[in-house]
Amino acid sequence: MQERTANNKQSRISPELQEYINELVKEVVLNGKDFNSQKKWLKKYVEAENGDFDTLSENLNSMFEGLNELRVNNSEHIKNAIEKYAKESNIKRGVIYSLMNKISNPNGENEEKCSFCGRGCYNEDVELWIKGVDGTICNACIEQAHRITEEILNDYYER
Ligand SMILES: [Zn+2]
Repeated sequence: MQERTANNKQSRISPELQEYINELVKEVVLNGKDFNSQKKWLKKYVEAENGDFDTLSENLNSMFEGLNELRVNNSEHIKNAIEKYAKESNIKRGVIYSLMNKISNPNGENEEKCSFCGRGCYNEDVELWIKGVDGTICNACIEQAHRITEEILNDYYER
């Protein structure tokens, strides 16, 4: 499957730095690493790529605040705000959704799974879930099914 990276117009930073930010966010949210103590390094790396550190730092702080709020107030409104700040911070959709699911459903009760591949809602490789009447499917399975459909129908209709 092709690797996607979050993207926005303001800051085109390298995939390596995006990966670094994603890993840092996981460390802060899941292992309680102190974000402030990491800012010195983050600033250095971002500025080395002529990125806008102040904006990134603000967005990340707002995102962390939102994630803390989510621990006590599991609302769609907060999730939407978190998603917005995560997008601006080059966080992968799968990563932020996995983190939000771990926070709002920490015991994994009735953890949602893809009915096709079995990936769960904590799996950061899943970028999108589509719910049906009797099951849920992840983006990777949708893409695979789409390719198979095209191949078979194109072959049948000789398109
Ligand atoms: Zn799947």
